[in-house]
Amino acid sequence: MGLVVQKYGGSSVADAEGIKRVAKRIVEAKKNGHQVVVVVSAMGDTTDELIDLAEQVSPMPAGREFDMLLTAGERISMALLAMAIKKLGHEAQSFTGSQAGVITDSVHNKARIIDVTPGRIRTALDEGNIAIVAGFQGVSQDKKDITTLGRGGSDTTAVALAAALDAEVCEIYTDVDGVFTADPRVVKKAQKIDWISFEDMLELAASGSKVLLHRCVEYARRYNIPIHVRSSFSGLQGTWVSSEPPVRKTQQQGEQKVEQAIISGVAHDTSEAKVTVVGVPDKPGEAAAIFRAIADAELNIDMVVQNVSAASTGLTDISFTLPKTDGRKAIDALEKAKPAIGFDSLRYDDQIGKISLVGAGMKTNPGVTASFFEALSDAGVNIELISTSEIRISVVTRADDVPGAVRAVHTAFGLDSESDEAVVYGGTGR
Ligand code: ADP
Ligand code: ASP
Ligand code: MG
Repeated sequence: MGLVVQKYGGSSVADAEGIKRVAKRIVEAKKNGHQVVVVVSAMGDTTDELIDLAEQVSPMPAGREFDMLLTAGERISMALLAMAIKKLGHEAQSFTGSQAGVITDSVHNKARIIDVTPGRIRTALDEGNIAIVAGFQGVSQDKKDITTLGRGGSDTTAVALAAALDAEVCEIYTDVDGVFTADPRVVKKAQKIDWISFEDMLELAASGSKVLLHRCVEYARRYNIPIHVRSSFSGLQGTWVSSEPPVRKTQQQGEQKVEQAIISGVAHDTSEAKVTVVGVPDKPGEAAAIFRAIADAELNIDMVVQNVSAASTGLTDISFTLPKTDGRKAIDALEKAKPAIGFDSLRYDDQIGKISLVGAGMKTNPGVTASFFEALSDAGVNIELISTSEIRISVVTRADDVPGAVRAVHTAFGLDSESDEAVVYGGTGR
């Protein structure tokens, strides 16, 4: 029996009862002979509540103190979980990200893990303990400041520890039974996926399926760590995310590889905003100047579109999308660069949503794009931006149109289940 890393999300440890339920599950794994490392998130919506609190004190909280505040959430849950495990008669020790050896760069609020030195975790395991690690946090290599990894970052902590400790699997426990063909909160007829490749999962995660964070999937792919996404509320098998499909034994055909579906699923995201730079001179270097200003402010963008310029004016508009949380910073950076770039004005729209269809099969199956747009048009949804990769098509629409559009696309691609309705066990979906 090898080492397993188990990660429990906020909804799984939302209250004292949740913590006790999870503790039992962890003890079961230990009794089955595993060495167990647990990564835990803050209880329920604690992180959101801490952010709200900070915003009441200072309108644009950021940086060092903000990270110090947010990491408090995971400290509470890790200590309580260790206590609950001890109450069940097993030894457990909790560790902050820094104590667990999670070393990051120094970009506060969205730090990247650059090294993991889990010496203390190894010692704790060797002494027979269950090790509990606070998710979503680390310590910066140069300044030794406490950092956070961005929202949902506990998933990344779990996979990074699994890689550093050479775990056999990284189990991500959450409030749904696995990865579904769409968010079960929006599509009741979504189906659980038994196995999905790293590539398709990466696209789903990057397109807003927050059941796994895309950085965590990136990490798992790089170190080839299989992930098992499952519910902490049920005993069901969840979704395996790995490089190779598992082999199943069937009576008729003997051993058979599980096949990947042509379309893996539909993702949606309402966390982005659209910035339009109006009246940009249509000459070389303008787009470069706009996106240099954005890059210098350390902001990441998602989609970009440039409209055809009106011949009479020689001016064009450039729109791009980025996380709403970075909207203010983007506007400030562009305002500052306005004299140098020479555009007319800026428009900011945070009432947008993105719908994406993901599946490696679209490379070889003609007509996927056509069917996608037909489904949106039949649902009366107007499209504002389009972007594609080899295995994904995304569109931006009005935020209000998103739930209907997701359901329409899900049905059009035959993804609706005939029987079970997807269960959401907990959480507020915040
Ligand atoms: P945790 O607190 O365990 O980290 P999250 O809220 O981050 O949980 O992620 C689980 C949620 O992800 C689910 O409750 C569900 O609403 C959402 N979700 C979005 N897309 C999907 C999908 N394709 N499959 C499953 N869940 C999804
Ligand atoms: N507690 C953090 C958040 O809510 C990290 C996590 O849950 O993964 O984003
Ligand atoms: Mg999460």
